[in-house]
Amino acid sequence: MKIFYDPSAIGKFVFPKTFWETSNNKILLTFDDGPNPATTPLILKTLDELKLVALFFVVGENAKKYSSLLKEIISSGNEIGNHTFNHTVISKLNKKELRGQIISTNEAVEEAAGRQLKYFRPPKGRINFGLQKILSEFEMHDVMWNLLTYDYKNDLNIVKFALRNYLKPDSIVVMHDNIKNKEIIESSIRFAVETAENKGLKFGEPSECLK
Ligand SMILES: [Zn+2]
Repeated sequence: MKIFYDPSAIGKFVFPKTFWETSNNKILLTFDDGPNPATTPLILKTLDELKLVALFFVVGENAKKYSSLLKEIISSGNEIGNHTFNHTVISKLNKKELRGQIISTNEAVEEAAGRQLKYFRPPKGRINFGLQKILSEFEMHDVMWNLLTYDYKNDLNIVKFALRNYLKPDSIVVMHDNIKNKEIIESSIRFAVETAENKGLKFGEPSECLK
């Protein structure tokens, strides 16, 4: 069932302004939910070894708590996005609550690492119809995906199946910077690279992939 891995066909129809795929036919890796002491250093080390940079959608309260990891993500050349302050599902928030989630996370990252955020991803991919209007106030954009790896199930075979079958030239790949998939995250990143090589695909940097 393709849609479970790639919701972009329906998504693009309902939210055409959202990023569902990269715009330069290169693969973008994204990591949600960090920073996290259990996984962030491991992910950074693996990316560095493979000479890749990624987009990390951080949770505001984690950014505050683990500000040195947040700074490391940035100093390694990676980009940061906003994933709400406490991983709240935003579909039922009113405008004030949603604006509060976005602002408090932007402020936490700016305070900890001096970085202004341009990208937002809603937790669990649950949309709020007021989101884009609020994001536009901050000159931010929402970034969804067209390849969910299900890495949080902590089963490398599931990730391999997803990558083998659905990795494409314009994939925005979701993985997690989260203790749930600690055992498989490094192998998952390596398998993504191996699969891309086999398919003749290239990885891109966030700023060039999201234009
Ligand atoms: Zn998340």
